[in-house]
Amino acid sequence: MHHFDRIDGALHAEGVPLEALAEAVGTPFYAYSTATLTRHYGLLREAVETHRASLGDALIAFAVKANSNLSVLATLARMGSGADTVSEGEIRRALKAGVPAGRIVFSGVGKSDAELAFAIEAGVRQINVESAVELERLIGISADVGAADRGAAPQIAIRVNPKIGAGGHARITTGGAADKFGVPAEEAPALYARAAASPHVTPVGLACHIGSQITMLEPLEGAFRALREMTLALRAEGFPVSRLDLGGGLGVPYHGQTDLPSIEAYVGMAAGVLDGLGVDTVFEPGRLLAANAGVLVSRVIQVNARSDGRRFLVLDAGMNDLMRPALYDAFHDLVPVRAREGAVGRYDLVGPICESTDVFARDRELSPLQAGDLVAFMSAGAYGAVLASEYNSRPLVPEVLVDGDRWAVVRKRPAHEEMWAREPRAEWLA
Ligand SMILES: *Cc1c(COP(=O)(O)O)cnc(C)c1O
Repeated sequence: MHHFDRIDGALHAEGVPLEALAEAVGTPFYAYSTATLTRHYGLLREAVETHRASLGDALIAFAVKANSNLSVLATLARMGSGADTVSEGEIRRALKAGVPAGRIVFSGVGKSDAELAFAIEAGVRQINVESAVELERLIGISADVGAADRGAAPQIAIRVNPKIGAGGHARITTGGAADKFGVPAEEAPALYARAAASPHVTPVGLACHIGSQITMLEPLEGAFRALREMTLALRAEGFPVSRLDLGGGLGVPYHGQTDLPSIEAYVGMAAGVLDGLGVDTVFEPGRLLAANAGVLVSRVIQVNARSDGRRFLVLDAGMNDLMRPALYDAFHDLVPVRAREGAVGRYDLVGPICESTDVFARDRELSPLQAGDLVAFMSAGAYGAVLASEYNSRPLVPEVLVDGDRWAVVRKRPAHEEMWAREPRAEWLA
């Protein structure tokens, strides 16, 4: 469900015509819908409140890596969202956007000493520890900064790898036995015991995150059941376990599928599994909140019809602006901002980048398109702009946030001079 609809034949973001934005901002650009973001957050909030008896005090921590724009984060922060972060930069962004430290979770497989110290000093709610060696480093750093002396020993969760990998593509699976994320379940009790024995950290629970774009509840349910069993086993050994971080990963309908698990079904399943356990919970949705809240608008540079019959729709957006198709073979629906009359044709959708992976889709059926037409890649609000680069010296793609009839550029397209300004010339080449 999203708020990008046709009004009088022209695609709008809420009340704002994408044509008007293209005129004002130039192409390509991302446009985000506030109403879509807040609707998704609201549905999830409502579902966890409904199941408060089983899910306890539930924190919804938006996975900042999915869309880290400050205005997007501020929109969610105002609704009470927390943030799931994977770097010092993301913690700083979340704080800057108005997410209180007490709602920030710090995850990640390779946190540096400086990042761990920063997270402790910032007083984040929870640090998810992903290995035995990281736990030892964290204990040492916490001792160095004297956190325990200030009564601020960091609360930690042990991220376990339940050996249930899932996700829309092998490259976005994180919970498989060979994946780099998390501690094997059988090692978790020893880590928990080690943490409990140290005054420098406070173990509060367990975490998992098994993958992304998961379109069935079964693997998630299996992972949550594993967390439940581990909780009971740890408690039997006398360790308090009061919080379970359930990760993110629920998929969204990129193909317009109607059979994906709903937010209500997902939360209801979690509540069913955790019923009676008496834990607080953390949800870390990224894609679920942001994907359908964004589109990438691009202009057709030319249609290149070759003698062999192939027709290339050459767009002014490239893989540097939207990397998901090149990185994960991802599918994005492409819709003309204003559809032309005429027979549907097949196009290869390509960008201008000098790489053969700069192809968004092959043989896509589309209504007729001509040079100058505007098109929108749908469901591009998650893992879109955040993955963009300036490859081929293309200025970083801008982002626009729409709210009803108003809009604002929330990330500017840099001028070329601003790009050069970041590259001071070596003095011997001056
Ligand atoms: C990426 C990530 C998420 C969010 O995943 P989505 O599939 O976007 O919901 C949540 N938790 C962790 C630890 C992550 O790395």
